[in-house]
Amino acid sequence: MAKYLKRSRDAAQRAEDDSKVRAAVEGILADIEKRGDDAVRELSVKFDKWDRKDYRLTNAEIKDCVGQLSKRNIDDIKFAQEQVRNFAQHQRDSMKDVEVETLPGVVLGHKNIPVNSVGCYVPGGKYPLLASAHMSVITAKVAGVSRIITCAPPFQGKPAPAIVAAQHLAGADVIYCLGGIQAVGAMAIGTASIAPVDMLVGPGNAFVAEAKRQLYGRVGIDLFAGPTETLVIADDTVDGEICATDLLGQAEHGPNSPAILLTNSEKLARETMAEIERLLKILPTGAVAAKAWEDYGEVIVCDSEEEMVKEADRIASEHVQVMTRDPDYFLKNMTNYGALFLGPRTNVAYGDKVIGTNHTLPTNKAARYTGGLWVGKFLKTVTYQRVLTDEASAMIGEYCSRLCMLEGFAGHAEQANVRVRRYGGRNVPY
Ligand code: NAD
Repeated sequence: MAKYLKRSRDAAQRAEDDSKVRAAVEGILADIEKRGDDAVRELSVKFDKWDRKDYRLTNAEIKDCVGQLSKRNIDDIKFAQEQVRNFAQHQRDSMKDVEVETLPGVVLGHKNIPVNSVGCYVPGGKYPLLASAHMSVITAKVAGVSRIITCAPPFQGKPAPAIVAAQHLAGADVIYCLGGIQAVGAMAIGTASIAPVDMLVGPGNAFVAEAKRQLYGRVGIDLFAGPTETLVIADDTVDGEICATDLLGQAEHGPNSPAILLTNSEKLARETMAEIERLLKILPTGAVAAKAWEDYGEVIVCDSEEEMVKEADRIASEHVQVMTRDPDYFLKNMTNYGALFLGPRTNVAYGDKVIGTNHTLPTNKAARYTGGLWVGKFLKTVTYQRVLTDEASAMIGEYCSRLCMLEGFAGHAEQANVRVRRYGGRNVPY
């Protein structure tokens, strides 16, 4: 049976945190709805100490931001963007339209149509998370979205040059320096200065993720992509240092980022916990990671790989790093995760920053019902149909008419009956 060497803060406390965020977001979205740009501006000053008449960056400002990066920085961003574009293009190419004759004379089809306009949120409160620009903007471009606007908060009082460069190089049509609830609210609801979009995408903190959740329905959203989570599954083929590094590398995202070790080796579990204490003292972002580890860290020891799969599926973590004798066992058997990182040669940071898979991934157990952001999220799969012959129309019409009457839908039945009479020259036999 799974044994806990370390547990996270209790669920009741976390639910209380969630309900505070929910209430704050509700009030702020209502204010944006009512007062538009005035509310957006006040919120931006209140939360980000950032005040401008127009949040849209000018071409000169964008050029200035790009100019602040070294050639090496720009080349690195371009390399990462190329990897994201390449993988997204392969995924797009795998999504074929379908047209098939399912019965003689009956043709059914589906096609994939890109969403017309998308608002991409790029997080940047604690760190300038430029990688999110590649993940959202480039993937939307590959899907064929025609209008792509993007928002990121100011970082240390001004637009973050690296984020702006990444947004620009990815091909964003308009770049706003605006953060948090006010950014996603303005993009979805629309204000006098920001025309509303059809869909919001991109990760963010608990406020951003909750705002997207509340705006869903009014606009589409990609998924619930809140504070980062990581799960390391390891056995005695690896050591405490690599496990501790991979846990803290994600815990540093923020004080509410869960980092969990799942292992069948109690020795490795204890070694990892000791190593975490050592690394926390020397990691420059140790203060944030320490809070996350204290409140949300867990260490679970299982008896078998089968039990580890069961626990991992229950946890349904955003990231799952697998470092065991046979990582493919987890690829074959796990069902709930945002992304898998198989073997010690790769890791979550590769996926987050550069390797090419998308880093916007489901959190808070959303991995039970969705994968992460990908080109398919920007495409609407819509169907159509044709009936080619009179015989096919009359044949389907007979079934349809009887099924409509089983539901009591006389008007629906008549739609079928008229066709059976017209194309089949008969009445429907009941
Ligand atoms: P952020 O851009 O998401 O949020 C910053 C904004 O939050 C600020 O601009 C401010 O307007 C708003 N804000 C801050 N405190 C507030 C308050 N009390 N009330 C209302 N609004 C407030 O940047 P961040 O805070 O650094 O968070 C980034 C998040 O993105 C992290 O939690 C990280 O784990 C997460 N992330 C998730 C994924 C994923 O795919 N799930 C990927 C990358 C990053």
